[in-house]
Amino acid sequence: MTQKPHVIIAGAGLGGLTAALSLLQSGFDVDVFEQASELKEVGAGVQISANGTRVLHALGLGDAIRALSWEPRGKELRLWNTGETWPMFDLGAESVERYGFPYYMFHRADLHEALASAVRHAKPDAIHLNAKAVGCDSAGSRPGLRLESGATIRGDVLVGADGVHSAVRQALFGPDQPKFTGCIAWRGVIRADRLPSHLLRPVGTNWVGPGGHVVHYFLRRGELLNFVGVRERSDWQVESWIAAGTVDECLEDFAGWHEDIRTFIRNIETPYKWALKVREPMARWTQGRVTLLGDACHSTLPFMAQGAVMAIEDGFILARCLAAAPGDPEAALKRYEAARRERANKVVTGSAGMIDLFHNSELADHAKAQAFMARQFQPEQTRARYEWLFSYDATRVAV
Ligand SMILES: Cc1cc2nc3c(=O)[nH]c(=O)nc-3n(C[C@H](O)[C@H](O)[C@H](O)COP(=O)(O)OP(=O)(O)OC[C@H]3O[C@@H](n4cnc5c(N)ncnc54)[C@H](O)[C@@H]3O)c2cc1C
Repeated sequence: MTQKPHVIIAGAGLGGLTAALSLLQSGFDVDVFEQASELKEVGAGVQISANGTRVLHALGLGDAIRALSWEPRGKELRLWNTGETWPMFDLGAESVERYGFPYYMFHRADLHEALASAVRHAKPDAIHLNAKAVGCDSAGSRPGLRLESGATIRGDVLVGADGVHSAVRQALFGPDQPKFTGCIAWRGVIRADRLPSHLLRPVGTNWVGPGGHVVHYFLRRGELLNFVGVRERSDWQVESWIAAGTVDECLEDFAGWHEDIRTFIRNIETPYKWALKVREPMARWTQGRVTLLGDACHSTLPFMAQGAVMAIEDGFILARCLAAAPGDPEAALKRYEAARRERANKVVTGSAGMIDLFHNSELADHAKAQAFMARQFQPEQTRARYEWLFSYDATRVAV
């Protein structure tokens, strides 16, 4: 085959759309099949570190994302009950100076819309809605995506970017066996003008406490605040962005926590709860001309804020690999998987390892908490945890 392949993508999330845009910009023909009836993201935040914004800049989205995002001056740690504060790392100009690109926080819908409109600008009818994948056929040189409608869409390459419950992954490798972590994540978006002025500091914050932690940061130029509160409890096991809880239930989960946390919770209109599950890192992502990306092959706990960033890196590297060997898609997919799997799996295991750091039982006792923070959050330790992530260059790394 000497033509560039026609690529079929299942799923128009952040990963699928980044792959679609990267491929279209490299001259491939692309069609994306999305189960939803309209293209929209949930009302929640997403942090994109420099290794992700580097890719978005390379795709020509630098101005668009700067206008939509909120850029923190840095990140801070706070203790769950007293509110004592420690610096975690500097961002803002420091991120640009160190890694070449900014660290941005987004409303997911804003970032999703920026990617979708760039895809549609490149190919107006690239995204097909109401198109739920139910399986795939990976044999031969024309893999097919089977849709719920009964249609099978064939192309030269098929990519499953259909998220944590991926139908393409299940068709390739069988059902997965997620394990419940014993943690649930509460999330909510709060209008910044409802918050007292002392809660408007221009930093992202990680509160740490025994059996739970809270992350908050602003979105959309500072107009909104994103709240994520993780608590260890075993009675809720639904893995979904849209399962609603109540403010009272959320307050109960954070009983005894600092008044700032309780102020945030009281101002959430509808808190949603997501049961956090882990999956073993996968040994393979690819079969012939079918591969996976993003949460479909390496869903991760959100504790390093890297799941979407990994999906963005995957999409860009996939396009680079196919562009490097357009006549041999099978070899290109092998190169893609070889370039990505170890790094993505390291995020999966690293994120799971953060539970012990953020939820440590020593944080219950004030003196032990002081010693724990001094021991575990020295600047060089924090740098070692994140440097390998932020400094990665998906536009130049060898593939
Ligand atoms: C509480 C929480 C906070 C997080 N915070 C961060 C963060 O700050 N930074 C970060 O980098 N990551 C974060 N993550 C992780 C991040 O949300 C995911 O890693 C990211 O969304 C994965 O992108 P994706 O495109 O692979 O999958 P998804 O975003 O899940 O997109 C999959 C798409 O496929 C579609 N789809 C699903 N099934 C089918 C089907 N059968 N047929 C067709 N279409 C289908 C879906 O509708 C969706 O549009 C967080 C996760 C959670 C739970």
